[in-house]
Amino acid sequence: MTARHCQHCGGVLAERACADGRRREQCERCGEIAWRNPLPVAMALIESAGRLVLIRRKDAPLAGWWAPPAGYVELGESAPQAALREAKEECGLDIALDGLFDVYSRADVNVLIVAYRAHAVGGALEAGDDASEAALFAAGAWPQEAPPASGKAIDEWLYGVIRDIMARWRPDNPKEA
Ligand SMILES: [Zn+2]
Repeated sequence: MTARHCQHCGGVLAERACADGRRREQCERCGEIAWRNPLPVAMALIESAGRLVLIRRKDAPLAGWWAPPAGYVELGESAPQAALREAKEECGLDIALDGLFDVYSRADVNVLIVAYRAHAVGGALEAGDDASEAALFAAGAWPQEAPPASGKAIDEWLYGVIRDIMARWRPDNPKEA
């Protein structure tokens, strides 16, 4: 593996034990710590006619599994804005957010998921971008999928996150169903 370099001065980074006992990469020249933080992902739990929008993922992690639309928050946008953008890109829907559903985080996984409740306000349901299919599922009629066998922590975790959502999500307006 090639050495990583300091973003401040270009010096070589080396892993060191910090005063608090954690091991972090630190610049051998200027002493700056190269902080590594989980990347935030915004996820949209989109209700449409009493059902939840799921897309079949094209890419890792969990390629081939059904999941709510989600993607990395980019610089220049807020987490809610990222949720809106990802929904449009992955399933063609214009959405409005209805508040936070939950935040998912695990120590050995380098992403953190912020999941919002949302409802469709326009557009047409259609798989796009990182999705091979997009469909609506009623609570209790979720796609039955086996756990991933990759042995990767992120696959196992994301599978668990999706199952937690399926167990807890209920439509706000079940009468519309
Ligand atoms: Zn440096």
